[in-house]
Amino acid sequence: DQVTIATALLSVSDKTGIVDLARALHEKGVRLVSTGGTHKTLSEAGLPVRDVSELTGFPEVMDGRVKTLHPGVHGGLLAIRDDADHLAAMRDHGITGIDLAVINLYPFEDVRAKGGDYPTTVENIDIGGPAMIRASAKNHAYVTIVTDPSDYAPLLNEMEKGATTLTFRQTMAAKAYARTAAYDTAIAGWFAEVLDTPMPRHRTIGGVLKEEMRYGENPHQKAAFYVTGENRPGVATATLLQGKQLSYNNINDTDAAFELVAEFLPENAPACAIIKHANPCGVATGSTLLEAYNRALACDSTSAFGGIIALNRTLDAATATEIVKLFTEVIIAPDVDEAAKAIIAKKPNLRLLVTGALPDPRVPGLTAKTVSGGLLVQTRDNGMVEDLELKVVTKRTPTAQELEDMKFAFKVAKHVKSNAVVYAKDGQTVGIGAGQMSRVDSARIAGLKAEEAARALGLPAPLTQGSAVASEAFLPFADGLLSMIAAGATSVIQPGGSMRDEEVIKAADDAGIAMVFTGMRHFKH
Ligand code: 5GP
Repeated sequence: DQVTIATALLSVSDKTGIVDLARALHEKGVRLVSTGGTHKTLSEAGLPVRDVSELTGFPEVMDGRVKTLHPGVHGGLLAIRDDADHLAAMRDHGITGIDLAVINLYPFEDVRAKGGDYPTTVENIDIGGPAMIRASAKNHAYVTIVTDPSDYAPLLNEMEKGATTLTFRQTMAAKAYARTAAYDTAIAGWFAEVLDTPMPRHRTIGGVLKEEMRYGENPHQKAAFYVTGENRPGVATATLLQGKQLSYNNINDTDAAFELVAEFLPENAPACAIIKHANPCGVATGSTLLEAYNRALACDSTSAFGGIIALNRTLDAATATEIVKLFTEVIIAPDVDEAAKAIIAKKPNLRLLVTGALPDPRVPGLTAKTVSGGLLVQTRDNGMVEDLELKVVTKRTPTAQELEDMKFAFKVAKHVKSNAVVYAKDGQTVGIGAGQMSRVDSARIAGLKAEEAARALGLPAPLTQGSAVASEAFLPFADGLLSMIAAGATSVIQPGGSMRDEEVIKAADDAGIAMVFTGMRHFKH
């Protein structure tokens, strides 16, 4: 199963390491063939290399759209080397066998990520490259296909022994098909974005390996992070300015944190969200970023220990100074200023991620989760309370302040695992109940959290007094509402639509509180 390499075809857009590889191949006596740009790079480096048009007897035409799409190339890649008919065809048509193909593709994903214009993006769809990659990989019994510069060293290592092994060629073939599949997935994903039809009927779901993690949710689980190329600022595209690689749980929590804080438009007010286990333990706006952080922290400072902090504005020195006082795993922000960077640098284990921008909460995109034997795919929950028509259902109409607090609470509740109950006041969460199997329990927990926060702050009464409370799904019975009223809430926001809405509205009226229905539910399971 060993194959000696006599002829190599090199055709790469990303020219990283190609000269060194070509030189090493040349020194091993391998004949080199190449396409236009790659040919130029190699001959300028003084390497003897033939142009692919010598194999095809046909020039590169149509601005490179047609370079290698020719039997002279594909016959050389696909021929079965011990089949008499195949050998006869090669002889009759003057086809040279190609034993090694080193190919990487036009940078479609990069052009898309940078928001290239329509014609530029289309022109970056590689045609000949994927065709050659797939042909070489199919014929892995005879041909070695290398699609990633990080495999040049392992390739040369294989060739030290004089030839490539079948296992190596199979491994490279598997990688090659994963590459072309991800490439086409990115192209279909781009069309879905262009057409604004995010549902996956005409696309596949997939991604490119970004990194392998040391382990998954638990140490005995293996894990990796794949990027889909979706044009959305976040943890997948962020730059890690300091700290060690993010863990599986860090990535999951950081995503939850940043998606939540992005709901608060930076031009309205600075905002901060602190996340633990994908649930917020405090969210607040403030007149400054520092104030927003302090107010978010005050909601549940115990849980915030070891949390993830997301900010909707550039991290400044004042906020950084406060943040480093507490143990935090990750900070994610659109940007960081130099003074803040220096302060964070004193805590080398604290990960600092910058994204350049916030994701647009109104752009849907896709979310997916696995079930046994399947993938559940849906558009992202892009419902925003500002876009909803709120219906007052009680006798009492909420005050302007109550209305603001209700909207704030509902916005946060969208990002809390169901059943979600969120108390808020003056742009600050004051009690969050998450993930309970009963809504009454979530309400109780949120109330308890508020009492604890009041004790920690040395206040005489829980902060839920006079607060607004949100439930991400309808209140099925009056009991949940009664516990919210008992906690001191004076206004309630919920989707409505329960069979017992009448009963719930009556309980609200009896207590003299104001309630609005949103007509939109935000389950998050
Ligand atoms: P070069 O810089 O050598 O001129 O071009 C290398 C790139 O061209 C590689 O990314 C390769 O995948 C791509 N390529 C090779 N053959 C063809 C072809 O026939 N059509 C198109 N569109 N791209 C090709």
